Amino acid sequence: MIKIQPACNDIHEPGLIPLNDALTRILDASPPIGGYERVNIENARGRTLAEAITADFNVPGYTNSAVDGYALSGADLPAEGTRILEIAGKAYAGEPFQGRLNPGQCLRIMTGAPMPEGLDTVIMQEHAERRGNTVLIDGRHKPGQNVRRAGEDIRLGQTILHPGKRLIPPDIGLIASLGIPEINVVRKLRIAIASTGNEIFSIGTTPKAGGLYDSNRYSLWAALDRPDIEVINLGIVEDRPDALLNAFEQAAEFADVIVSTGGVSSGEADYTKTALQTSGRIGFWKVALKPGRPFAFGRIGNAVFFGLPGNPVAVMVTFYLLVLPSLEKMLGINNKPIVPLFRARMLDDLRKKPGRTEVPRGIIGQDQNGEWTARSTGNQGSGILSSMSLANALIILEHDRGNVKAGETVWVNPFAGLF
Ligand code: AMP
Ligand code: MG
Repeated sequence: MIKIQPACNDIHEPGLIPLNDALTRILDASPPIGGYERVNIENARGRTLAEAITADFNVPGYTNSAVDGYALSGADLPAEGTRILEIAGKAYAGEPFQGRLNPGQCLRIMTGAPMPEGLDTVIMQEHAERRGNTVLIDGRHKPGQNVRRAGEDIRLGQTILHPGKRLIPPDIGLIASLGIPEINVVRKLRIAIASTGNEIFSIGTTPKAGGLYDSNRYSLWAALDRPDIEVINLGIVEDRPDALLNAFEQAAEFADVIVSTGGVSSGEADYTKTALQTSGRIGFWKVALKPGRPFAFGRIGNAVFFGLPGNPVAVMVTFYLLVLPSLEKMLGINNKPIVPLFRARMLDDLRKKPGRTEVPRGIIGQDQNGEWTARSTGNQGSGILSSMSLANALIILEHDRGNVKAGETVWVNPFAGLF
C-alpha cells in the first residue's frame, strides 16, 4: 500500500476550489499578449505564427515523375497483353526533356523530372523490360500512375498555415517550400521567476543552519526553457513584505508573467501572502489538489501573477496543470500540443480522498499483452522531488474518486506530452 500523506486540514473546508474551476478562472484572466516579431525560419520552431502563410505558386510547381522509369501517355498502355515502346529521350530532375513524342514512343525518366506535355503516366523501371532502345510493358498499369501533380501538396492561393499555430518542424519545411525566408511570430512571453523564503539559498552560496538550496527556481527555469519564452531570473527575494511587493512591482514593469514559489499558505512567515494581500489584486486560493493546495493568482501591475506553493513537487504539478495552460493561452497558441491522457491498470493500491484531485507520480509501462500499466514511484510527499524525477507520468485521480485498488484503471498523463 502506498501511503499518501493526509491533508493538513479538513478537505470539506469552505473556499476549496475544484481544480477545473481554478483552471477556468485562470484561463479567463490570461489574455493573449499580442505583439509580434520577425524571425528567420531557421529560428521559428516552437514559435507561434502571427500571420497567415499563403502560397504564391503551386508545390510541386510542375507535374513530375514519382519514380525512376519510363514516361508515356496513358493512351499507349496495352489494354491486354504486352506492348513495345520506343525510347525517344531522357528526362532528369532539373533537366527537362525538350522535344515532343509521337504515339508509341516513351521517355526514360528519373524521379523528380518534369513530365513533358502529353505524358501522364510512369512505369517503374522494375516493372518494365528494357530491350535495347525499346521497352516492353505489360497490361497491369493504370493511366496517371506514378506522377506527382502540380499543386498536389500546396495549391496556388491556398493558406497553408494560420495565425496561432505553434510551429513544428514540418511547418518550417512547408514555409521553406514556398521560398519564404522570414515570418512574423508572436513575441516571446516574458516570465519573471522568483523564490521566497528566509531558509532558501541559491546554488553557489553556503546555506546557514536550517537552510536549504533553492531547487524550485531551477526546475521552473528548466520547464520554461522553450523557444517562445524569455525567463527573467529575479533570484531569491528577501522574505519581507515590502521587499517582495517592491520586487514584484518592478518585475511587472517588463514581465508579462511573474511566478514565485513559497509563502502562499497561512503560516506566520508566509510573507508573499501578507505582501500581496495589501496590493488587493491577488486571490489566495485553496485548490482541491494534492499536491498543490495553497495557490495565489491575480495581477500585479500589467503582469499576471502566480504564487505557487513552496514544496518542490507541488511547484511542478501546479506549473503543468495550472500555469502552462495559461502561458499557452497568452501566447495565442491555438494548436495546443495534445497532452495524451490514457487509461492504465494500477499495479499498486493508492490511498485517495474524495473531494480533491490527487496527482501521484507514476511509472507507466506495458504488460505482455501491450496493455498500459502504472505503478507509484513510492513516497508521495510533496517535498519528495525524487518521486517526480523517477516518474515518467502523472497519475490523475479524479476529484470524486476514493481509494484505488491494484487492478483498477486510472488516468495517466505521460511526461512525453508535457515536457
Ligand atoms: P512554504 O510554502 O513557503 O511554507 O514552503 C514549504 C516548503 O517548501 C518549505 O518548508 C521548504 O522546505 C520548501 N521550499 C520552499 N521554497 C523552496 C525552494 N525555492 N526550493 C526548495 N524547496 C523550497
Ligand atoms: Mg516559506
